[in-house]
Amino acid sequence: MQRLFRGMSIAAGLVQGSDVADQYLYGEDGTAAAGPEQYLAPDGSLWRLPDLVARIAAPAAGGPGGSLWRYTDAIPVSQTAGWWQVATLGEGGTPLVLEQEHGWSVGLKVEYASPTGSFKDRGAVVMLAKAREWGVERCVVDSSGNAGAAVAAYAARLGIRCEVFVPAANSPSKLRQPESHGAVVHRIAGSREDVAAAALEFVDREGAFYASHVFNPYFYEGTKTYAFEIWEQLGGRAPELLVLPVGNGTFVLGACKGFRELLAAGLVDRVPRVIAVQAEGCAPLARAHAAGGRLEPVQTRPTVAEGIAIAQPRRGAEILAAIREAGGDVISVSDEQVLAARARLAARGFYVEPTAAASYAGWRAVAPALEQAGFRGTVVLPLCGSGLKS
Ligand SMILES: *Cc1c(COP(=O)(O)O)cnc(C)c1O
Repeated sequence: MQRLFRGMSIAAGLVQGSDVADQYLYGEDGTAAAGPEQYLAPDGSLWRLPDLVARIAAPAAGGPGGSLWRYTDAIPVSQTAGWWQVATLGEGGTPLVLEQEHGWSVGLKVEYASPTGSFKDRGAVVMLAKAREWGVERCVVDSSGNAGAAVAAYAARLGIRCEVFVPAANSPSKLRQPESHGAVVHRIAGSREDVAAAALEFVDREGAFYASHVFNPYFYEGTKTYAFEIWEQLGGRAPELLVLPVGNGTFVLGACKGFRELLAAGLVDRVPRVIAVQAEGCAPLARAHAAGGRLEPVQTRPTVAEGIAIAQPRRGAEILAAIREAGGDVISVSDEQVLAARARLAARGFYVEPTAAASYAGWRAVAPALEQAGFRGTVVLPLCGSGLKS
């Protein structure tokens, strides 16, 4: 057993304890991190955080009221420092609307009701509360989408200066949200990779904090609360199936981690199966999953589900492993399926951006076969981004 710091120990990847004043990141070779400026482990891998044993009270009747901070004991930020209380906009606690389809109870989790309009708020608030705890004064983000908007909003609340790096070709309307929160926008000529390189160069040169939802594992400590809320809203049990969109995997990795932590705490007796959904135009994970897990470069073409069009997901192997462990599958859906799913949701009163209809399209694609095979139960899927932004 390795003691990493006060009040916490790691044994077989499980960590217990709640008032976490220090980071306890580790790389693939098991090294612990020194400070927030190290966005990569010394061996060049991305940092990960071990699973906690979820410390959560019995489900509240009709829960979850309130924000995701009802689970403070299960989130590794310092209670003493308390920066989350400055940061919070009441994120989390999203509605779970139940419908009946194909013999299943279908729980639509209305993530677009989040303060900045997407589920990225869950991750951003935890990551930035942690950054503030570390004394960070300036952060860098290279997303003009929902992640950039969420990071800019919480950075503003915490008095952290936010620098957003975007492709010069980006439509100006996408930048209105982060700019209105006071973020400084850097327009970079070239490809998406050139933008990422410019952001990292700035991070290295200026000693700024890289507030990346892909690199920084504290982001997943926020997205895991999606699992806790589902467990609580179903009266203290896991659904049979989760359907989730996947691009960089912040949602899939967080949701799987959340259910593993509930399992470790004995609060569920199994983790739900996971079906992750990609867009046909850009489906490296679906391809790799079908090929036994080998990630390879893929041909891509534009898709309406642009939020999940990630050709080379940095955590690809980790995502595939999490899905395999959950007995899951990765499928892809066409733009026609996504747009039909979006229209169907709109006809039921839900207004989502195209990317956020991908998981519902995935459910529609697998549901008839599940029904025919006699499978029944509860499936939960997120409506993860607002149609008002698109
Ligand atoms: C970020 C995002 C996704 C994809 O999440 P990943 O972390 O890239 O897997 C899906 N839908 C919406 C609306 C998003 O903002």
